[in-house]
Amino acid sequence: MKNTQFAVIGLGRFGMSLINELSRMGYDVLAIDNDEEKVQDAAETATHAVQADAMDEQALKSVGIRNFDVVVVAIGENIQTNILSTIILKEMGVKTVVAKARNALHGKVLEKIGADLVIYPERDMAVKLARSLVSRNILEHIELSPDYSIIELITPKDFIGKSLVDLGVRQKMGVTILAIRHSDEIIVAPRASQIIHPGDVLVALGKNADLQRLGEMES
Ligand code: ADP
Repeated sequence: MKNTQFAVIGLGRFGMSLINELSRMGYDVLAIDNDEEKVQDAAETATHAVQADAMDEQALKSVGIRNFDVVVVAIGENIQTNILSTIILKEMGVKTVVAKARNALHGKVLEKIGADLVIYPERDMAVKLARSLVSRNILEHIELSPDYSIIELITPKDFIGKSLVDLGVRQKMGVTILAIRHSDEIIVAPRASQIIHPGDVLVALGKNADLQRLGEMES
């Protein structure tokens, strides 16, 4: 098992997905819910699963919640429980409390009461989806790691007639062009002086955020 110890309170869809992924990555996770059935389900994947009320300080103390590096309050529906649990955890001295917010106002309250990280899963997912829907210029996407990918991209309009070095593709945009498809020809590892032509397709390697920016340019 890896070193960081996680606890997740609230075993709804979000909490369970989080537990599944952390367990898959080899981390220790304690799952907490006041619903016995949820606890039983979680026991199959989490390292430990206990039934406890997120607002019961004594119960949280008895599972040693203070010793966990990161505690995630994944209760979504009941805002009051979510807020009270966050306060209790911070007052008990939990180092890092991550709290799930339902809306901006809820998020503001969580920040004010000391949540170390406030997350908005639904909003963030929608933003991600919107981005991928508008990045129509990306023809292929191969994820190399959570941070890096290779994409196949229709040449942005502003690139046409310019060389890779003029555009500063690597220096300014942080992206490496691995190959260019030019009509039927494939130019492998193009030189910096290579000029981009209309209809070219670029094969680019880089950080997801940098590639995303390329994908959002007009073609
Ligand atoms: P999602 O939207 O991710 O499915 P929900 O808000 O529906 O999340 O799920 C919240 C979970 O939190 C439920 O499993 C519920 O039993 C649990 N829960 C609600 N109140 C408490 C509480 N006071 N203590 C512990 N767990 C709670």
